[in-house]
Amino acid sequence: MRKITVFVISFLIFCYPTDSFAEQTIPILIYHSIDEFKGHGAKELYVSPENFEQQMIYLRDHGFTLLTFEQWEEINRVKKPIFITFDDGYKNNLNAFAIFQKVKNENFKPTATFFVISDFVGRANRLSKADLKELSDSGYISIQSHTANHPELTKTSKLEYELKGSKEKIQMITGKPVIALAYPYGEYNKQVINETKKYYQFGLTTIPEYYSEKGEKNELYLLPRKYIKYSTTLEEFAKIVEGS
Ligand SMILES: [Zn+2]
Repeated sequence: MRKITVFVISFLIFCYPTDSFAEQTIPILIYHSIDEFKGHGAKELYVSPENFEQQMIYLRDHGFTLLTFEQWEEINRVKKPIFITFDDGYKNNLNAFAIFQKVKNENFKPTATFFVISDFVGRANRLSKADLKELSDSGYISIQSHTANHPELTKTSKLEYELKGSKEKIQMITGKPVIALAYPYGEYNKQVINETKKYYQFGLTTIPEYYSEKGEKNELYLLPRKYIKYSTTLEEFAKIVEGS
C-alpha cells in the first residue's frame, strides 16, 4: 500500500505537466479575414465567422486570457495568455468584433490587435477611420501598424514613411499610442529591425512558432505567429493554442 502511495506522489511531482513546471510558451495567432469565402483571394486567409466563434468559445471555456501588446507585462501574471492578431485591416474584421461581443462574459474579455495598412484605411473592403476609432474606443481592439502601403520592407526605399508615417497616421485616428508593427509578408532584415526599434516596442513576424522568453537580442522584434486557416478544425485549433 505504502509503495503505491509513494509511486502516486512521485508520479504527480515528476510527471504531471503543470504550468509551474513547463516553460512558458505563448501562442500569438494570426488571422486575416473573418468571413465566408466567396471565391476572392486565398481561401486559407479566411476563417468563417462560425469557426471563429467556436474558436473564441474554446478559449473562453478553457481559461485563456486574451491580451494586447499594451499588456505585454501581464504575460507572466495571467492564466494561459494568448494574443489574437489580424493583418491587413479588412472590413470583415468587424465580424470578429461582433463575435467578441457575443461570447464575452464577466470572466472573459476577448481582445485582439488589428494591424492596419494606414494608406488603405477607408478603401472599399477595408476598415474606415470611423471603424478604427470605434473599435479602439471599445477597449476590445488595439489598432496597430502594418505599415503605410504594405511593401516588402527589405526592398522599400521609403522605410521612414512606412514605419514612422503609418504610426503617426494611426495615432491621429485612434488617439492612442501605436507600439507594435507587423512586417508585411513577414519580411525583415537587420536594417528593418533597427528602424522598427526607433518607433515601436514590438515587431511581429510570421515565423510559425510559440513565443518564449529567451533573453535574446531583438526577440521582441522577432515575435512569431501561428496561422489559423480556413481549413483549421477545432481539434487542430485546440492543439495549436494548448501548445501540443
Ligand atoms: Zn499583410
